[in-house]
Amino acid sequence: MKFRTRAIHIGSEPDSTGAVVPPIYLSTTFVQPGPGDWGAFDYSRSGNPTRARVEKTIADLEGAAGSLAFSSGMAATHCAMGLLESGSHVVAGCDMYGGTYRLLHKICNRNNITVTLVHADDAAAIAEAIRPETKMVWVESIGNPLMSVPDLEQISADIVMHSATKYFGGHSDCLAGALSAKTPELHRQLYFIQNATGGVIGGLEAFLLHRGIKTMELRVREQSKSALAIAQWLESHRSVARVLYPGLASHPHHQRAVRLMGDQFGGMVTFDVRGDIETAKRVCKATELFGLAVSCGAVESLIEQPATMSHASYDPAARAQAGICDTLVRISVGLEDPEDLIADLDRALGIAGGA
Ligand SMILES: *Cc1c(COP(=O)(O)O)cnc(C)c1O
Repeated sequence: MKFRTRAIHIGSEPDSTGAVVPPIYLSTTFVQPGPGDWGAFDYSRSGNPTRARVEKTIADLEGAAGSLAFSSGMAATHCAMGLLESGSHVVAGCDMYGGTYRLLHKICNRNNITVTLVHADDAAAIAEAIRPETKMVWVESIGNPLMSVPDLEQISADIVMHSATKYFGGHSDCLAGALSAKTPELHRQLYFIQNATGGVIGGLEAFLLHRGIKTMELRVREQSKSALAIAQWLESHRSVARVLYPGLASHPHHQRAVRLMGDQFGGMVTFDVRGDIETAKRVCKATELFGLAVSCGAVESLIEQPATMSHASYDPAARAQAGICDTLVRISVGLEDPEDLIADLDRALGIAGGA
């Protein structure tokens, strides 16, 4: 079956009541057949029927041996980092999520884990950074906020991590994360860490996440269409110095993006305004439809300034080195009519008065 069909049916099989929408299990614990004789579920940190359904759906969509659902994307990332031992080395993309930068440099470092940052779209640079003690390569597809496109065909992916808060949930009402493992053994190791550390998704959030996934393909298709139209419009705007979007022919890895993503390049667009840090701030404050907020991937459009918001947890020097400059503005294109979104940006850029 195709992606969209599986998103709706796999994991949503009717239960014994015939309910088309399976019920939400909020129970923290489950009555057992006998002492030491365990049923399918015992305690909700270890397993929960609502969570199990959404994990089944995600594993199927990812073609994974198994998936695990977490209370947030960072809980999922932290679980994956739990595979590392003291002395391990990680190679990571330099335009990664600010929270992941913080986790690696300010939490994982306490366990003597070191990190080398490289441009994720340069597979040769990644290969060069690998040492005997390198245990993990961590890249984002697509990188943020610079919209780098890593060569995923060259970089093997044993684990896929999602901040399911974003496109999976899709409605800004559910904080969630997911890990999908390529092999049953890796799934078992990650499950062990998840159960031992406890960052599991709750029953209610598991339900919301599951509901969001059913419409993900349709949402992302429309968001990609609108984002491309907006990126093309921005490219010709006099107040905009540069537009970063993998769907544009001007993107340095446009051909790679086409190979990996076909004709859907997502809803995230970054642009560089003519002017300075204050100009970028004024643009972010002047929009009416685009809400001034971090996060992305939901039905409502958002705008933010990476240097002072999503990537403020970077050390300033590392931010500059990665190319995350003060004049960048990042938008997450939602499901509003693209004509209304363009009108909103046009008004905001006019008010901000780029040089
Ligand atoms: C949002 C995000 C995260 C963190 O996920 P949360 O659900 O907010 O914990 C990690 N990585 C990327 C790329 C993200 O966009």
